[in-house]
This record gives sequence, structure tokens and C-alpha cells, in this order.
Amino acid sequence: LGHELVEHATPARLAAAVRDGPPVLPMPPGLAAYRARGGYAALRLAQQHGPAGHGQMLATLEAAALRGLGGAGFPAARKWRLVMSQPGPRHLVVNADEGEPGTFKDRYCLETEPHRVLEGMLIAAEAIGAAACWIYLRDEYPHLRRMLGAEIAALAEAGLARMPIHLRRGAGAYICGEETALLESLEGRRGYPRHKPPFPGEHGLFGRPTLIHNVETLWLLPELLAHREAAARHAAMGRRGRQGLRFFSVSGRVRNPGEKLAPAGVTARELVEEFAGGMLAGHRFVAYLPGGASGGILPERLADLPLDFGTLDAQGCFIGSGAVVVLSDQDDLAGAARNLVRFFREESCGQCTPCRVGTAKAAALLEAPRWDRALLEELAVAMADGSICGLGQAAMNPVRTLLRHMPEAVA
Ligand code: SF4
Repeated sequence: LGHELVEHATPARLAAAVRDGPPVLPMPPGLAAYRARGGYAALRLAQQHGPAGHGQMLATLEAAALRGLGGAGFPAARKWRLVMSQPGPRHLVVNADEGEPGTFKDRYCLETEPHRVLEGMLIAAEAIGAAACWIYLRDEYPHLRRMLGAEIAALAEAGLARMPIHLRRGAGAYICGEETALLESLEGRRGYPRHKPPFPGEHGLFGRPTLIHNVETLWLLPELLAHREAAARHAAMGRRGRQGLRFFSVSGRVRNPGEKLAPAGVTARELVEEFAGGMLAGHRFVAYLPGGASGGILPERLADLPLDFGTLDAQGCFIGSGAVVVLSDQDDLAGAARNLVRFFREESCGQCTPCRVGTAKAAALLEAPRWDRALLEELAVAMADGSICGLGQAAMNPVRTLLRHMPEAVA
């Protein structure tokens, strides 16, 4: 999966990168530009209405069928209600620690329209009566950290934020994208996922009720609340009976990879053909990862399934954060599955035995010239049943789904 990167990292390119430093990215629109086109109007409304407007806001989220888009797809209104029903002080946390291989939607949203995310954050914070907002940003995005620092300062100066906004760096651990590990990290401890329940909505940051939202969910919010018809329009945009829009990070062997805002329920074939310009010349579509490293691997013959939360359960897969990686006849599918398990072995936090030992054992088993399918399945069941968090529970998904749907790809 890192093939293209390795292929393109020639000594001359690496030397140039060291000499020239990181590429200079165009600056996203700042506060003044965003306000000039009506930005922060939805926040002003939320601030003016106060608690009297909460019922209408929740009704809007429901009409828009807005879900938490970090991977679990939990309805946003239910998350808000749970936190609102708890005694204060409450917190609002923005999970901007995307680390799922193939996912780059947080980066896209923050590079292009950071104030849309910040406005969504402040609206949600107003609604739950948050004492503070916390943004946990992936450490590999230093340019975003600099930009957000400046824009948050501008917000405070403009008097738009009625609570402190704390910007915190991750430290490169994939597991800190898991919401409870993220909370541990924010509290200054090692990022070990917590047992649930209690859920963060009741017992979250510093033991207080906490609303945690992904960047994409917040990016959608201002638009939905700014116009009377927006929520219904948004809900109607899905395909095949699904509701709303989703960001799909499309990568791999397509002509035009990138972030695609597409209807929920779109298929992988439509993403390739309609949104990503088709397959690269000389490549034939043979398989795809519907949800990054942990969402499994599906064959091209199943590329007409709708992509949304719950639609791939029968295939042993899920879309998670919407990272669709397209593989071709020039890719080694067994090698891709092996590589993903190696990734989980590296990223396991080590807190629980089924995952810590299981990922290491699985990675070793996958190095054998012939895979011991029965033993791999037994190990996968033990890991799925016994691991504390989603990393260990889903780490064997690439192997299990490959063996189930494309056994011919494995020795
Ligand atoms: Fe850590 Fe893995 Fe256990 Fe999750 S499943 S808590 S990542 S050891």
C-alpha cells in the first residue's frame, strides 16, 4: 500500500525535500473571508436563541440524518441529547487525529475551510453548554497546527468564542484516534483505550460529560443550521435509500484520487468511475478496501454494494471513516493484507493480551509461504472476542475477508 510512495521516493527527490523543506501550501480562507460570505451566522443564531433553540437544533440534526462521521456512525442528535442530559461542566472535543491508512478527510476539511469546522465546533459547544473546546490534532499536520493556532486567536479577538479553545497535538499514535484513548492522552496519560461503559457522553474528559465529534461532522453543521431547507435537502442526497453526504477518501489505482463528497449509499464502482476518473491506464479493478485498514477487503464483483454504515456487515466489512483504497491486477492482495496486519502489530497499544500477542502472532503466521487458514481464523475469533477496543477486534478483518471472498489470492 505504500508502494507508490516508495516508488517515487528517489534519492534525488529526497535530497530536494531536505534542501527545500516542506512544500508551501496555499493558505485557506481566514476569518474575515469566511465571515464576508456569511460565515458564523449560524453560530450567532445559536448564541441568540440559547437553550430555547436547542429543540429546533436537535430536530434539524434529525431531519438531516446527521451521524457522527468518525467511523461509528452514531446519530448526532442522540449524542447531543445524552451529553445535554448530564450535569455540567461539560466538554466538547474535536477528534482531528485521523490516522486510518487511506483517510485524509480531516486534512482536506481543515486545509480548505477551517472556519466551517470551527463554527461547527462552537455551535455544538453552545448547544451542550460546553465549558471548553478541545481540538486533538494529528501531529503529522504541523502546517494545520500553525494555521489553527492563528485562526483560534482571531476568533477569540473577534469575540465569537464564548469558551476557551485548547489546541492539542497528538504524538503519532494511531490508537489515539480511538475516542477514549484520545481522552486519556488529552488528560496527559498514555493513550490506552478505556473500557465502555461508561461512555464519554456521561464520563468523558476529566470525568465530565463530553461530546466528541469528528472534523467532518462539524464541517457539515453550519450549512445544515444556516438555511431552513438545508437539513431536508441534505438527507435527500443519499442513494439507494441511504441519507446524506459523506466524504470518501479515494486512493489507489484510480486516475483522479482525492477527497470526494458523495452521496451515502454510493458504490465503489461509482466512486471509481463517476468521481475518480476511472482506473489508471493499464490497471484492471480487482478489489477494494471500503474502510481503510480495518474495514476489510472486497472483490470487484461486490463493487455495486452501497457504501454506508451497516451496509457491508453481511460481507464482514464496514466503511468506518470512508477510506476507499482501489486495488488492481498489479497489486498483491495477500501482501496488502499482510502489510495491514503488520500495521496493527505496530500500532497495538499493548494494553490487552489478545491484541498485543494476537497481532504479533498473526503477522508471523502471515509470513509463512502457505497460510494456516484454520489457525488464522481461530486467532481472529479470539482477538475479535477478547480485545478491549476496535483495533484488536478488527485487526484481522483484511485477512478474514480476503480468505472469504478471494481465497484464490492466497497461497
Ligand atoms: Fe490496546 Fe489493542 Fe487492546 Fe485496543 S485492543 S486496548 S489497541 S491492546
